[in-house]
Amino acid sequence: MKKVYASPDLLSAGHVRNLLEQNGIASQLRNYYLGGGIGDLPVNECWPEIWVDDSDVARAEQVVRELQEALAEPPGPPWICPACGERNEGQFGECWHCGATRPASVGTP
Ligand SMILES: [Zn+2]
Repeated sequence: MKKVYASPDLLSAGHVRNLLEQNGIASQLRNYYLGGGIGDLPVNECWPEIWVDDSDVARAEQVVRELQEALAEPPGPPWICPACGERNEGQFGECWHCGATRPASVGTP
């Protein structure tokens, strides 16, 4: 067995497992039960981990890589709030200052 993925986010780990399953790759989720130990153990030793059989490692790593590339899409450019003039980073859909929604014409490629 080999670890192909680890994340502090159990939802992400579950998503990876589902993707692997869709690709016909059996996997094990480890450390699921260690979540309560965070604070006592080094944090990344508590992360949920996905393990697969040695024969599936190459395919599993490809699935994980494609997922991470999809998640790594760069955020849009910073935008200026039309309501209050505040500058907001591209990943935010609302103005952090006044809560106005980002205009559709800004930050969409
Ligand atoms: Zn604003």
